[in-house]
Amino acid sequence: MHPLDEFRGFVKADEPLAPLTWFRLGGVADFLARPQTIDELRSLVLCCHKEAIPFRVLSSGSNVLVGDKGVRGVVIQLESPAFSDVRIDGRTVEAGAAVPLNALISQTARAGLAGLELLTGIPGSVGGALRGNAGSRQTALGQFVQSVTVLDRHGDTVTRERDDLSFSYRWSNLDDPIILAARFSLELEDPEAVVRRMRRIWIVKKENQPYGHQLSGLIFKDPATDIAARMLIDQSGLKGARVGGAEVSDRDSNYIVAQSGASAADVMGLIDLIRETVKTQTGHNLELQIQIW
Ligand SMILES: Cc1cc2nc3c(=O)[nH]c(=O)nc-3n(C[C@H](O)[C@H](O)[C@H](O)COP(=O)(O)OP(=O)(O)OC[C@H]3O[C@@H](n4cnc5c(N)ncnc54)[C@H](O)[C@@H]3O)c2cc1C
Repeated sequence: MHPLDEFRGFVKADEPLAPLTWFRLGGVADFLARPQTIDELRSLVLCCHKEAIPFRVLSSGSNVLVGDKGVRGVVIQLESPAFSDVRIDGRTVEAGAAVPLNALISQTARAGLAGLELLTGIPGSVGGALRGNAGSRQTALGQFVQSVTVLDRHGDTVTRERDDLSFSYRWSNLDDPIILAARFSLELEDPEAVVRRMRRIWIVKKENQPYGHQLSGLIFKDPATDIAARMLIDQSGLKGARVGGAEVSDRDSNYIVAQSGASAADVMGLIDLIRETVKTQTGHNLELQIQIW
């Protein structure tokens, strides 16, 4: 008997991960778990801990490239209502990790709360955005965080307050296994003004990333505020470069687009080609933003 058999109600074996990511690439997870309650999640984490079974969380899959061989251990998706609550109380907003970031932004904008609209158009959920401190040129999510509730390796729910949290460019010290929810502090403003700003940012963002129907990922961190990865890739003559079915986007060279028939290995091959060429041509080492599993 496998230790995970007791979780058969919400754990499935050999589940394809490709449909759960923006690249739509990669192999299967040994196990995919979709706990419906915090108690189910806690029991699963404790079992994984006891049996030394590796586990990780996949949210919207917009910052993950799954390898063609798939993922060993358990991939956990928090998508039930238990992890999708939003509560607004004055200037304070509490949101579950599974809430789509853009849904949270429109809800807070309509409620006359300003700040998050600067992140309009960034795909993903609150959990994924907190982990990598997702952001735009103007700001990043961490700036608005008051506290974050996590589940630690022992299955305990812990609330980490602002002075225990650090955020920097596309990085946070939220290395706890599971982010459950967060509390944000926003500014009161006329809802119409915030919604107008949100719409304007949405238009600009859409124009500067691959088309909505394309399977894509944002690949590298910018080496510095005034040195964009996109610019270095262009300078290295890589616009439109291809490996197999993976291609550098012609809208913004820091995105790779997967054409039909592409494999995760093609994307990884193109990533290597870009890194080597940019290093040779410009001397810069590009660091990955996307997580490779
Ligand atoms: C078209 C496009 C445009 C993008 N534009 C931007 C942009 O402007 N700015 C930007 O910063 N990023 C951008 N990204 C990258 C991506 O959208 C962000 O990194 C996003 O925050 C990832 O969220 P997610 O929910 O999809 O996380 P996932 O991709 O599912 O996960 C990302 C990482 O977070 C971890 N994680 C996710 N949820 C949890 C949780 N609940 N607990 C613990 N760990 C968790 C995962 O294990 C993984 O390591 C873009 C991506 C695409 C495809």
